[in-house]
Amino acid sequence: MSANIVVLGGGVGGVVAAVESKKSLGGRARVILIDRKKNFQFPPSFPWLVTGFREPAQVQRPLESLRSKGIEVHEAEVNGLDVRARVVHTSTGSVPFDQLIIALGAEYDTELVPGYSRWAHHMYDLDSAVRMGEAVQAFSGGKVLIGIARLPYKCPAAPYEMAFLLDDLYRQRGMRDRVELGLFSPEGNPLPAAGPENGSRVAEMLRERAISYHPKHKVWEIGERTVSFEEGAPIAFDLLICIPPHRAPKVVVEAGLTDGSGWVPVDPRTLRTKEPGVYAVGDITVVPTPHGYVPSLPKAGVFAHGQAKVVAHNISAEIGGRLHPETWDGKGACFLEVSRGKSAFLKGNFLADPRPDLDFRSPSAVYHMQKILFERYWMHHWF
Ligand SMILES: Cc1cc2nc3c(=O)[nH]c(=O)nc-3n(C[C@H](O)[C@H](O)[C@H](O)COP(=O)(O)OP(=O)(O)OC[C@H]3O[C@@H](n4cnc5c(N)ncnc54)[C@H](O)[C@@H]3O)c2cc1C
Repeated sequence: MSANIVVLGGGVGGVVAAVESKKSLGGRARVILIDRKKNFQFPPSFPWLVTGFREPAQVQRPLESLRSKGIEVHEAEVNGLDVRARVVHTSTGSVPFDQLIIALGAEYDTELVPGYSRWAHHMYDLDSAVRMGEAVQAFSGGKVLIGIARLPYKCPAAPYEMAFLLDDLYRQRGMRDRVELGLFSPEGNPLPAAGPENGSRVAEMLRERAISYHPKHKVWEIGERTVSFEEGAPIAFDLLICIPPHRAPKVVVEAGLTDGSGWVPVDPRTLRTKEPGVYAVGDITVVPTPHGYVPSLPKAGVFAHGQAKVVAHNISAEIGGRLHPETWDGKGACFLEVSRGKSAFLKGNFLADPRPDLDFRSPSAVYHMQKILFERYWMHHWF
């Protein structure tokens, strides 16, 4: 009898987990992927939606195309999870599982900060990125304020990337002298997971572009033209872009899978949760780091990808009996676009002990080309 491998979420981690499991197990497993969305969407390209470098159709793929790989795709809302009875409840019925891979990502708690929903733009989902793009393109001058509402948030580089790309966009349009750019964050320096040295390089890149930087600023409230903070003076804006507060989806909280952090704790190397046969990967997890830069691993697609591969491999090893189990290495890399033709690049081992082993490369056309290839790989290899 074939095993039921159920994958919750058709984002970065879910797609990799489903495709890799099916590829190694073939007819020995049913692989069922459940997502509320019709399409896989590729968030690393959302900043390009904002700046007009991409159209929405270019950064999406229909999840149902995974059916040609033998994966059963259910377009449904996951609204309950009974890990003891080993069943997932969805808007279209109940799905029993032998092995469960949870890759539901993070959701946004836009009500947490008063005034957020009314006054802030963000690019953290496709529709919001399109709306933000319209606002950015229509902007005729004044102060653009970019901020991070709460920690943790996914893709630590994204707000800095957005600041650099807006600097470039308004320069290209010959209106940079009419646009003031500023960035605030509750963190003490940019990209703390990458260590103080790399953070200082990003702070320097902000300075070079005359983007004012306000660290240790935790938003209290957003008004029509001003952001107030828990401490310090308010900052005025004409256009506000703010990363929304993140939280784990309700289903995993109700299933008792989260801890005091609000996220799902997992073994850093195997991604096992406390429940047998139940794994979690990607943004929904909390993975402690062995070094002191940040208490837990940042949320990023590159980690979701690597973790999902390991989980799929180990489930296949368990069911198929021919492979040796593997462990996740904690490695990751990310691009930091600074203009339409240049990107910086950071890579390293984020679970290395006692310090993450990191390499930061200055902006160049080569890394920009690599980012384009990275997008192409995602849009074509997995679908
Ligand atoms: C603007 C932006 C730029 C980024 N750039 C980069 C980058 O350059 N490099 C990088 O590594 N990372 C980047 N990231 C982060 C990266 O996109 C995420 O870390 C990654 O997508 C996490 O993968 P995941 O599988 O955990 O979750 P997701 O990819 O978010 O997938 C979760 C899926 O679960 C589904 N879902 C959630 N709840 C339910 C439910 N109850 N029922 C049914 N379906 C549900 C969602 O619809 C979604 O499809 C970026 C993110 C953003 C927003």
